[in-house]
Amino acid sequence: MRRKIIIIGAGASGLMAAVSAAEHGADVLVLEHMESAGKKLLLTGAGRCNYTNTDVDARHYHSLEETSALFSDAGHEGRSGCTAAEFVSGVLRSFSCEDCIGTFRRLGIEPGIKHYRFDETGYVYPEDKNAGDVLAALLKRTNELDVKIFYGIKLSSIRPAVDTGWEIRFHMPEHGHTVSHCERCSSVILAAGSNAYPDTGSDSSLYPFIKELGLQFQSFLPALCALYSKDGILKELKGMRKDGRAMLIVSKDCAPSPEEATFIASESGEIQFNEHSISGIPVMQLSGTASAALKAGKKVFLQIDISAGDPFHHTFAVHRTAGFERSQCCAGGIALTEIDPRDMQSRKHPGLYVCGELLDIHGDCGGYNLHFAWASGRIAGLSAAGHHKDLY
Ligand SMILES: Cc1cc2nc3c(=O)[nH]c(=O)nc-3n(C[C@H](O)[C@H](O)[C@H](O)COP(=O)(O)OP(=O)(O)OC[C@H]3O[C@@H](n4cnc5c(N)ncnc54)[C@H](O)[C@@H]3O)c2cc1C
Repeated sequence: MRRKIIIIGAGASGLMAAVSAAEHGADVLVLEHMESAGKKLLLTGAGRCNYTNTDVDARHYHSLEETSALFSDAGHEGRSGCTAAEFVSGVLRSFSCEDCIGTFRRLGIEPGIKHYRFDETGYVYPEDKNAGDVLAALLKRTNELDVKIFYGIKLSSIRPAVDTGWEIRFHMPEHGHTVSHCERCSSVILAAGSNAYPDTGSDSSLYPFIKELGLQFQSFLPALCALYSKDGILKELKGMRKDGRAMLIVSKDCAPSPEEATFIASESGEIQFNEHSISGIPVMQLSGTASAALKAGKKVFLQIDISAGDPFHHTFAVHRTAGFERSQCCAGGIALTEIDPRDMQSRKHPGLYVCGELLDIHGDCGGYNLHFAWASGRIAGLSAAGHHKDLY
């Protein structure tokens, strides 16, 4: 008998899970609460979709649990599970950059590789640099495989069924009415994303269901975003873009000045100065850690060094990050201890799978977040369809 799988969320990871499961014989239904699929995917890489990187490697991934431990009194002693690197390493082994390029090539997407200054790795985009083509290719494949996608749904419950499998209740608009549905399935895949750019549909609305399922969850924080400072010098620098180095410095306790604080990390690349904020890839890379430090009540400073042209050295006090509306991803999500990375299955609930940014994993800029969405979605889809033995 065909396995029936329900996937919550028609974004990057959910569509990849749907294709992977249906290609292995499963009967797949995707439930999406927006009126169309892949809204965030269309925005990626400024509409050009940086869908993987030639340097896909565990060191590009982080978890909020790990970052928060830097700023808690308990330190790493207080941490419960594996590191982000330990969690993702097997996932990435099962789906490398070459595998990703091959998968999209089979869907009709040829790769184009771009090397940026300051980053020796290769950012992989579709050759014609159009995110719409990536989404269209995934939807074409779901259509060929008879994957059903219901749009505009509102979830009511996700529960283990009384005998076996899962029962999902939801309602959706049909011919001008709201109709209630109850679907049974052997497995459920949660692929609802984070809280970054909530207008795209990833708006943490799945959180009450995650709580009801008793899964540990690290509240989302903005990551890959600009850092805000009240420093008056920003008014003079507004509009400037310069190559340089950004250093994140965090107070030990309530140290009022950067001299008494701890250096956390530095990144190089093009730094952009705006009227109230500092952005650019190096600053965005540091922003997830800055979010965790600010949440822990620490004082956060950003030291900027520009060496070429007119040398510039200044330390900005950071009082906040950009909000979720302007963050490319989120730190936080379902705790890694809840999920077995070999099949992306819940350790508490057999038949429940989680993939993509809903997990407490966030990647660096450069295609790493989409790569993890594809890789984890593929494992969840194959495992739910009963083919996880093919993975490693
Ligand atoms: C502006 C921007 C640019 C980016 N550029 C890049 C890039 O170039 N390269 C890169 O690697 N990453 C990029 N990212 C990050 C990347 O888009 C995400 O990491 C990736 O889309 C995560 O995939 P996902 O499937 O987990 O979530 P999503 O793609 O967000 O999909 C989640 C889906 O679940 C649906 N959903 C949510 N809640 C519910 C619910 N309760 N019921 C039903 N459906 C629900 C949502 O509507 C959505 O369709 C970018 C992000 C942004 C915001």
